[in-house]
Amino acid sequence: MTGTENYPILLSPLKVGNTTLKNRVIMGSIHTGLEDRARDTTRLAAYFAERARGGVALIVTGGYAPNRTGWLLPFGAKLTNRVEARRHRTMTDAVHAEGGKIALQILHAGRYSYQPFSVSASSIKAPINPFRPRRLTARGVRWQIRNFVRCARLARSAGYDGVEIMGGEGYFINQFLSDRTNKRRDEWGGSAENRRRIAVEIARRIRAEVGTDFLVMFRLSMADLVEGGQSWDDIVALAQDLESVGVDVINTDIGWHESRVPTIVTSVPRAAFADITGKLDKHVDIPVAASNRINMPDIAEGILARGDAQLISMARPMLADPFWVRKAEANAADSINTCIACNQACLDHAFVHKTVSCLVNPRAGREVELQLLPARRTKKVAVVGGGPAGLSAALEAARRGHAVSLFESRPALGGQFGIAQRIPGKEEFSETIRYFTTALRDADVAVHLGWRVTAAELVAGDFDEVIVATGVIPRIPSIPGIDHPSVLSYADVVEHGRPVGDRVAVIGAGGIGIDISEFLTTNASPTLDLKEWKQEWGVTEPEAAPGALTTPVPAPSPREVYLLQRKKGRIGAGLAKTTGWVHRAALKAKGVHELSGVNYERIDDEGLHITFGERHERPRTLAVDTVVVCAGQEPVRDLVDDLRAAGTTAHVIGGADVAAELDAKRAIEQGTRLAASI
Ligand code: NAP
Ligand code: SF4
Repeated sequence: MTGTENYPILLSPLKVGNTTLKNRVIMGSIHTGLEDRARDTTRLAAYFAERARGGVALIVTGGYAPNRTGWLLPFGAKLTNRVEARRHRTMTDAVHAEGGKIALQILHAGRYSYQPFSVSASSIKAPINPFRPRRLTARGVRWQIRNFVRCARLARSAGYDGVEIMGGEGYFINQFLSDRTNKRRDEWGGSAENRRRIAVEIARRIRAEVGTDFLVMFRLSMADLVEGGQSWDDIVALAQDLESVGVDVINTDIGWHESRVPTIVTSVPRAAFADITGKLDKHVDIPVAASNRINMPDIAEGILARGDAQLISMARPMLADPFWVRKAEANAADSINTCIACNQACLDHAFVHKTVSCLVNPRAGREVELQLLPARRTKKVAVVGGGPAGLSAALEAARRGHAVSLFESRPALGGQFGIAQRIPGKEEFSETIRYFTTALRDADVAVHLGWRVTAAELVAGDFDEVIVATGVIPRIPSIPGIDHPSVLSYADVVEHGRPVGDRVAVIGAGGIGIDISEFLTTNASPTLDLKEWKQEWGVTEPEAAPGALTTPVPAPSPREVYLLQRKKGRIGAGLAKTTGWVHRAALKAKGVHELSGVNYERIDDEGLHITFGERHERPRTLAVDTVVVCAGQEPVRDLVDDLRAAGTTAHVIGGADVAAELDAKRAIEQGTRLAASI
């Protein structure tokens, strides 16, 4: 079967306004950070060009503010004059040279602007920003509209094929649309018609300015997922008004940044919101694009086939695999490097003002600096360990032309990802193992499973380079009674399916302790059940309530779980920005007891004995049936020592190198960089 037979709608062209898109895939906007500095223009152009080469029909840039009040950050990206516009030629020319199209996103942050000069419909501070915005006067509103129009005009002069007006995610325009943030009583507030006036005026005046042969898209929030969000009638009326003033495409969006419902993390079911897009699609004649948690061609084709949308917008999946469309065309979905929605190298970077990349594709955003060119001399390379570090090193070394053998002592590839994929809501991690398995085969890597290779065998194998990626083992803390039969390691529980009692204490509240607590308090995988997931987070039909919110009804936990750490302070404080709050909310919903500042005294038939206080003065016994140890990891380095004794040096990467704060982002990047250098 060909890709076109398998994904007939996805790969078919679509006429949008006066432009024809060669397929139905839009690369959605994601702010990489490269937009913010003129010196990064070449890197940004290379990043876009690679995605255009990968076959995506239309790229939407990261957000550019129409003036300084709309900056995401001080001195962030803006497009306000001809000098700035000239720089954009580098990007638009690079994309056009690859046969792609590119639209500039105009993003005014409004009260999300992280600076003291922010503006909004009303002077209401966002819960996620310390700066209170200034309420715009009516004159100020009109000035803002003129700036949006100027930005679109400059985008056209810079060679863009269109613009996307950001009207969702709780940014400036969305702040006018919603009663939550718009308390005005003039022509820009009050009635729903007045609240949407700014959005319609911006679109109408941009269309008048740019003519008919230029794409005008609008990013519209399908459900604000905040108290006081827009009603469904408001959203439909706005979409219809936008169509009537000449908008070509409605791209969709879910949830404000301040919403307490997760919309993009890995535990959100795939295509969770496509049905809402489908409801809007019935009310307008222009194409509507579905977005959020769509990452594989079969999911995308299903949405299009059901008539829920005519286009698919994906941002992170294009970071993970720039050649996503080409692989769909070749009917090779198995070789797609799937976005696992971890956010670790993309949005978590963006929120701490680091350049965005991708955990599963460290080249994203680094196309210029991290090149994997053919090796000048073919070498014989041994990689020991089939976890994320070893997999990436083996794959990229083989792609460069080296003859690579990979040794893994277990019967399957994946390492720590093999455990992660069994955690409810982390099933996507299996896609990375599938990707590497397929890619290693295609790159002719000799994969030896179930082979604990020795230093003597490696020496006898006469390898030019030996890469040790033997990973980690769970740390066993020295607590009296740690060898009691009630004590299990996290690997015992998740990997080996050892039985766990009804009352459980989890020792260690790092990423794995939290994952295990979710594992133990969840009956089934929420990712597999959209209805259950919506109940859990209180998401209802958009017609049922403004903002599509209702009271959450989490499924009861099958166990009572205590999650413990020695340090004082909030559990999960070290988790990442975009995912930490989701984990904390999930634990709270399941009634997990969180205990900090704990001293572990002993484990015996009564359970786990702990004390609190500097002098261990407040004792407590947790009468639990099982104690699960998640106390971090120790590196596995025996092979390094054996090789050294045999007079051979090796490259050591991943957890075997540094186990502390080991994560897959570091492991995959380290493996890739090493492969690029040998
Ligand atoms: P970790 O994050 O370093 O946490 C280890 C936990 O064990 C800490 O809570 C620590 O807290 C406790 N601990 C350390 N030594 C101990 C000892 N001797 N006795 C008792 N408790 C001890 O390690 P991890 O949970 O194994 O995770 C490993 C890495 O995987 C993380 O760095 C993270 O990057 C990644 N990961 C992340 C996630 C996620 O974000 N959801 C999920 C899984 C894995 P106290 O010292 O305060 O007791
Ligand atoms: Fe997707 Fe994670 Fe890569 Fe972000 S870092 S693009 S979420 S795989």
